[in-house]
Amino acid sequence: MKILFLHGWHSVPGGVKPSSLIAQGHWVLNPALDDDDFSSAVRTAQAVYDSQTPDVIVGSSRGAAVALHLNSANTPLVLLCPAWRNYGGHRPLKPSSLILHSRQDAVIPFSDSEELVRSSGLPPEMILEVGRDHRLADPESLSVLHWACTLLASGNHLPTLNDDSQFAPDSSDSRNALTHQEASYICDACGEEIVIPLDLTEGTSQTYVEDCPVCCRANTIHVRMDDYGQAHVHADPEQDP
Ligand SMILES: [Zn+2]
Repeated sequence: MKILFLHGWHSVPGGVKPSSLIAQGHWVLNPALDDDDFSSAVRTAQAVYDSQTPDVIVGSSRGAAVALHLNSANTPLVLLCPAWRNYGGHRPLKPSSLILHSRQDAVIPFSDSEELVRSSGLPPEMILEVGRDHRLADPESLSVLHWACTLLASGNHLPTLNDDSQFAPDSSDSRNALTHQEASYICDACGEEIVIPLDLTEGTSQTYVEDCPVCCRANTIHVRMDDYGQAHVHADPEQDP
């Protein structure tokens, strides 16, 4: 896939993170951004975006703030410890985004990412806690970065994690974030709204039979994730064979 990588302040193109994405076989656009003039950095990134139409935009620290200022339509964003507070604030984050951040980040507080998501009306599960510092250059963080890009660029913003080899064993925090969501459906028989847990690791399209907890009639539950990561659930009465 084609990735627009926006580097951090006083980083240079060719760092560990873009190099890691290149090693995974991605085509990485890695423009040099002006370290002093933020508007100039945004203009540079916008010009590359407009001419190259990348599949996903990755921004690191100040580069993530640049990403938040781009006109990037529906192109997904992967933001690494975004430094939006230091650089011009932010517009609402789009749903097709993921944030990677460490609580031990001593440069950009983890709470800045929590505020970014909250003020955009998005769920805290969009923040994946990885790494031990601001750089996110450790193997686990790089692995999750690659995974996040692949996930978002596929148009499915929620994962099918059947292939465990894609995940380092200690990435359980990221996995947990994807297995604790809920949705609801209206029982066809009794009209009650039934809340169900979603296990997104089971895939973006799921069908199963469950007895209504109110009227005990069996329903066939259909779960589908759309391109924005929203769950759509409906129920049919189970058909007699
Ligand atoms: Zn019912």
